[in-house]
Amino acid sequence: MSNEIMIPFHRPLIGEEEIARVAECLRSGWLTTGQRTVEFEKKFAEYIGAPHAIAVNSCTAAMHLALAALGIKRGDEVITSPYTFVATCEAIQYLGAKPVFVDIDPLTLNLNPDLLPQALSERTRAIVPVHFAGHPADMPLIMALAQAYDLKVMEDAAHALEAEIKWGVAENGDNPLGKGKIGKIGDATCFSFYATKNLTTGEGGMVTCANADLAAHIRRLSLHGLSRDAWKRYASTGSWYYEVLEQGYKYNLTDIAAALGLAQLSKVKAMWQRRAEIVARYNAAFADMPELETPTVKPGMCHAWHLYTLRLHLYRLTLDRNEFLDELYRRGINCSVHFIPLHMMPHYHKAYGLHPGDFPVAEREYCRVLSLPLYPALGDEEVKRIITTVQQIIAAHARQRRVSYAVREAALV
Ligand SMILES: *Cc1c(COP(=O)(O)O)cnc(C)c1O
Repeated sequence: MSNEIMIPFHRPLIGEEEIARVAECLRSGWLTTGQRTVEFEKKFAEYIGAPHAIAVNSCTAAMHLALAALGIKRGDEVITSPYTFVATCEAIQYLGAKPVFVDIDPLTLNLNPDLLPQALSERTRAIVPVHFAGHPADMPLIMALAQAYDLKVMEDAAHALEAEIKWGVAENGDNPLGKGKIGKIGDATCFSFYATKNLTTGEGGMVTCANADLAAHIRRLSLHGLSRDAWKRYASTGSWYYEVLEQGYKYNLTDIAAALGLAQLSKVKAMWQRRAEIVARYNAAFADMPELETPTVKPGMCHAWHLYTLRLHLYRLTLDRNEFLDELYRRGINCSVHFIPLHMMPHYHKAYGLHPGDFPVAEREYCRVLSLPLYPALGDEEVKRIITTVQQIIAAHARQRRVSYAVREAALV
């Protein structure tokens, strides 16, 4: 066991600004959804460049409401990636719809759009791309397919706050389908403000969309299906009157959380820059190590860098991914794995008859992937220690000395 202090997988960047904003909210006497939430929604919509933003208490809630408002219901099929957190799928299941998985692209670990057509059925109503680690999914192709088959697109952008598609393949005159900042492309996009995400409110989420009716519907669903218009209509008689227009949910964001969100939003760019700097260091250190595969960024994509995934070339190592993680932990570095594919989960076997082996690319990548710590509160010394530790473990467990690769590669030329 190392004597050094453990480097945690994540540590949020909470400064005096966040503390002051939350304290101000607490002192104001208004704790639940109010002016700070309204301001947070406005500033978030401006940051994304989306016409509407609706704050809720998690990304899971955001996805549930977005799919509900897009008309997804019992018996519908919704196509998504098995390489995600269970929340993506739960949102589909809450509505009685069936998640249909397609395997992933081994380069980005996002759902492989070439496999989408074969997953379509009479019942397919929507596609839910997940922007894994912050690398945008192939939205130009997904949007083109959605348009051709009249499907809704709801994006899980839990990792993708700063992500952008600067250019795409499906350019369509002055309608650049599937291009732009994530949050402006699909019918609705859902963000997470969970404790480890790029922007945090402790727990929280946001839906962005362009359609005003859709936004109003999501907002109504987020608070018991109550009508705001009724509040306005009867405002002169007091604020006690409301009408329940439909069955809704209790998903509203508190002003305490929104206060935290406002402070975090002002630092989003600086926090991204610091993560990008750490990514550059990791990449430079690991690029010429044949046992490791560093993350790919496809041309034209701006990566949000929520996760730094490292993939092991297991055939070049004498230890597997789990043992690699154990070694890192023993030396004081806490890493993680994103994600255990959903089709390998007992529930998905029971509910849909899925088995290990059904999505071989997802499974193969899962077995060799790990996520290194990546957050703005990570210091230069810590980054250095993580790099050295990874290099030491690799050196101790490489199947052959590096020099023999060089010799073999030279012989191949
Ligand atoms: C974190 C996460 C979610 C869930 O976000 P919550 O805000 O915790 O509901 C959904 N999808 C992905 C890919 C995530 O990483």
